[in-house]
Amino acid sequence: MKPFEKCPACGYDLVSKQVEKLLSGGGNTVSLEVPAEVCLHCGERLYAEDVVESSEEIRGKLRTHEFSLLKGLGQSFTVDEGWPNKAIQPTT
Ligand SMILES: [Zn+2]
Repeated sequence: MKPFEKCPACGYDLVSKQVEKLLSGGGNTVSLEVPAEVCLHCGERLYAEDVVESSEEIRGKLRTHEFSLLKGLGQSFTVDEGWPNKAIQPTT
């Protein structure tokens, strides 16, 4: 059951794939492997309604720092002020 057969943005064919989806909120990030319809032409991703609903629920949990049913996956990092390439340093 597909919500779309063609990309609504450009009209090309969509393929069913497992993709990595990153959700962030409250300074934390959740990474998920989710099924999506992906456009081979423009990269548009379409998610099933239940995936969208779960994503919203997870974003809400992140915002309120409520981590039940989520598990840790190592740590997240960014570069610090000492990193030689200034272009990729955090702006804050
Ligand atoms: Zn497209």
